[in-house]
Amino acid sequence: MDAPISEPVFLRYAQAQAAYGTHLLAVHRRDLSGCCCHCGRSHPCGHRVHGARLLAHYADWPRDGPDGG
Ligand SMILES: [Zn+2]
Repeated sequence: MDAPISEPVFLRYAQAQAAYGTHLLAVHRRDLSGCCCHCGRSHPCGHRVHGARLLAHYADWPRDGPDGG
């Protein structure tokens, strides 16, 4: 879709993306051999890096706005 989305819709999207990033960081962790215990790639695997980037980008969007409530 080309239409812009409303702020509440974006905030829900941002929260979902941040939650997914948290999930990726929880699942893709280093094991004792130095590899990811979930996908087996070397640490940090691409999934973990992607999760960290999602958190860095989406985790600090305001839930109620700067002047909210
Ligand atoms: Zn992994």
